[in-house]
Amino acid sequence: MSSEAAVKYVTDTPESEVKRVAEWINTEEYKEKNFARQALVINPAHACQPLGAELAAHGFEGSLPFVHGSQGCASYYRSTLNRHFREPAPAVSDSMTEDGAVFGGQNNLHEALENAYTIYKPKMMPIFTSCMPEIIGDDLTAFIKNARQKGCIPQDFPLPYANTPSFNGSHVHGYDAMLLSILQTLTEGKAVEGRCTGKLNLIAGFDANTGNYREYKRILEAFGIPYTLLADISETFDSPLDGTYRAYPGGTKLEDAADSINGKATIALGTYSTAKTFGWLKDNYAGKHAALPTPFGVEKTDAFIMKLSELFGKPVPESLKAERGRAVDAMTDAHQYMHGKKFALFGDPDYLLGYVSFLLEMGARPYHILCSKGTKKLEKEIQALLDASPYGKDGKIYINKDLWHLRSLVMTDPVDAMIGDTHGKFAARDANIPLFRFGFPVFDRVNLHRYPLIGYQGTINMVSTICNKFIEMRDETCEDRHFEMMR
Ligand code: SF4
Repeated sequence: MSSEAAVKYVTDTPESEVKRVAEWINTEEYKEKNFARQALVINPAHACQPLGAELAAHGFEGSLPFVHGSQGCASYYRSTLNRHFREPAPAVSDSMTEDGAVFGGQNNLHEALENAYTIYKPKMMPIFTSCMPEIIGDDLTAFIKNARQKGCIPQDFPLPYANTPSFNGSHVHGYDAMLLSILQTLTEGKAVEGRCTGKLNLIAGFDANTGNYREYKRILEAFGIPYTLLADISETFDSPLDGTYRAYPGGTKLEDAADSINGKATIALGTYSTAKTFGWLKDNYAGKHAALPTPFGVEKTDAFIMKLSELFGKPVPESLKAERGRAVDAMTDAHQYMHGKKFALFGDPDYLLGYVSFLLEMGARPYHILCSKGTKKLEKEIQALLDASPYGKDGKIYINKDLWHLRSLVMTDPVDAMIGDTHGKFAARDANIPLFRFGFPVFDRVNLHRYPLIGYQGTINMVSTICNKFIEMRDETCEDRHFEMMR
């Protein structure tokens, strides 16, 4: 029997009609209809708030993320983190079901707190919410107070909590809300007049690249600046495989986080995913404070390095100066492979700003720039970057559009490549262009989260990944007479 005969069609739609529609969705006419869409979102490039909250909760020593809400939602956050890092993401849920939706989730919360505390012996349980308790209006403040009064949990056990309604914002806002609550809880009553830890508090924002965290540490160590990284997921999601299972590997020590309020200085990176946290700590933390963009590319890394130098009165170490020179050399050696190339970009606000800035430095053209949860402020900031470079003049920004919109864009107005996360692979395949997976999540490639994208080293990594792919494509597609040793 031929393979064609084995196909069992599930619809009566004739093949000619399937072909017609497949071609029609690549047209300008369809693009117009697609962009006229109002109520429906197709393949958004963001996740829901609690997922971000869980990432923040994982970044502390002995911390067990606690989902007040549905079990299925908790599975979604865990499996997303688990698939991206290929590491366990231990978290608990109080598994609200129909009766919780009708009568409120207090009983679920109390029982689960008692069980999780007894069985998993965490040092802290950051609590955040899924859609269901947010819709019915569960009062977490009262529920937690009652849990302590009932003795479900010791009086002094840290239970930071954040409302993370998923019908509003995205994973970056959930990250921010959870981190804020954790810092408020741990630092309560810990500010000491005249005390200075001498340390830098570094807040990386929502960043699921463990290599970036190691890179921040390496830069600070090169400077000789003592630091507390808030929140440090580098070990949590990249711990060594040595035969021992650790439920809570790594994370920022709770006592260091508590003492961060007495720091010498605080830098919050990723101004969109740390906005609330920074807004609070600049009025409450000792020392100097600065909010900077995530250091993608040379210019933004320079700004970060110079801020470190200024805050701590230390000269830039020779090793970092040499590293900067190597990054510039790597960019110069490779620029002809990226120069003038058009890119479609999508992702979180802080990463998008970084991609645009980096591409412009390489003489590449950020062309379709899409954020599915953005603001006018973000649009203005990206536009200012585009306006400052001749390579940005034809870049267009699409705020609050989704990946189905992006597909229409790349099919009707083609580009050379796409930068984003795994969710872009369908549009990239249809458009027959490479997808560079620098964002979150990445489900379909291994170990990418271990390669830093920030700093001078991250810049070299991005340049090499992109340019070598273009060179490889040339090797794969060129005529024999153009198949050269030298590229
Ligand atoms: S959007 Fe709401 S229902 Fe869906 S996974 Fe997130 S919290 Fe759960």
